[in-house]
Amino acid sequence: MAKSTEKRKAPAHGRAKRPLVIDAHAHFNDPVVAKFIREKSGRTGGGFVTSGGISKKFADAQLKPIKYVGERHRNVDLRLKELDQMGIDMQVITSSPSAGCYWADGKTGLEMAARNNDTVAEMVAKYPDRFIGVGTVPMQDVARAVKELRRCVLDLKLRGVIIGSIIEGIELGERKHWKFWAELEKLDVPVIIHPDGFTHPERLLKFNMWNSVAQPLEEALAMSSFIYEGVMDAFPKIKILICHGGGYLPFYAGRADITYLDRPASRGKARKKPSDYMSQFYYDTVFYNPDMLEFLVKKVGHDKIMMGTDYPHFMKTWDAVAFVTKAAGLSKAAKADILHKNAAKLFKIAL
Ligand SMILES: [Zn+2]
Repeated sequence: MAKSTEKRKAPAHGRAKRPLVIDAHAHFNDPVVAKFIREKSGRTGGGFVTSGGISKKFADAQLKPIKYVGERHRNVDLRLKELDQMGIDMQVITSSPSAGCYWADGKTGLEMAARNNDTVAEMVAKYPDRFIGVGTVPMQDVARAVKELRRCVLDLKLRGVIIGSIIEGIELGERKHWKFWAELEKLDVPVIIHPDGFTHPERLLKFNMWNSVAQPLEEALAMSSFIYEGVMDAFPKIKILICHGGGYLPFYAGRADITYLDRPASRGKARKKPSDYMSQFYYDTVFYNPDMLEFLVKKVGHDKIMMGTDYPHFMKTWDAVAFVTKAAGLSKAAKADILHKNAAKLFKIAL
């Protein structure tokens, strides 16, 4: 895995003078698992939702940037150098959410997730002052997912898990997954929800809209499932971090509220209107519009948002720190919380 084998000291970019800057959204793949997924999943890029009907031309275009990304998954020295350049002290490294191989049987999914989690734990052990580890689990098999979650937290000392936004057609809020949410709440660790494409490629392949338009929709759907299926009420202490600022829902919850209030049959098991649940979730800052940060803070509170880069898959997030520090309408204290305190609290980072 890691190119370098020696423990690395803290960077000399002023750590003592200011609180640590923490990147709460980044990825780190085990190369063997990544290769297995690419070759065996039968899906372009190995994603858990994108599938079928993808042309070779489209696949080639998709795979081009992967070469750039792949180098950053392999080369830890390069990652550390770039983190220093970005002004980031610690990074929460998560597996690719597709490492649980939802398309495979539970046994295979567990093997791949476990291998990936071991690699993440190894990386953290080697660079304890730079990385915080988050694992993944085979959600297609809830019993095995619970078992691996416990191993991640209790044995490997990882600080949570990352999973996809839908599991082979079954929405996250559905009953099948409730044992997992119960265990997560009991262990008091966060789950990161991260999409990988979209389930219905028919209208979204052109112009890369599966990414630009549909990923935020995946996030809105996942949050809606948690809310309407009753997960947020049944597990009030559950900690769910929704990637990419929560997609559309926090910015468009008014429409969901109107529907909830006007049409009682649409409420499902939700005890409150959708906007009342927004501050129960956690969010990152990977949403590119600086003015949206002020809006999100107003809607959910600055204590629920943490800075993220999406490294090494980032699209113009090199200035993720400035995205926060230069945001209009935010107090100095709110910015410090988003850069440092909120992630430290959620991932139990001892400072
Ligand atoms: Zn990501």
